[in-house]
Amino acid sequence: MAVPKKKTSKSRRNMRRSHDALTGSAYAECSNCGELHRPHHVCTSCGHYDGREVVEGAAA
Ligand SMILES: [Zn+2]
Repeated sequence: MAVPKKKTSKSRRNMRRSHDALTGSAYAECSNCGELHRPHHVCTSCGHYDGREVVEGAAA
């Protein structure tokens, strides 16, 4: 069975785990109403996406 030749140091282990760090949730400002919405998603408050209304009846 393959066995690591050297113990992974705390430094190297932590450098590897730096890729697992949590990042803040991504939010973008709606260009129509200014509300925060998920990027690449339709705005939940006004139903706009890419500068036009794509969902009818969304609360203006
Ligand atoms: Zn909006």
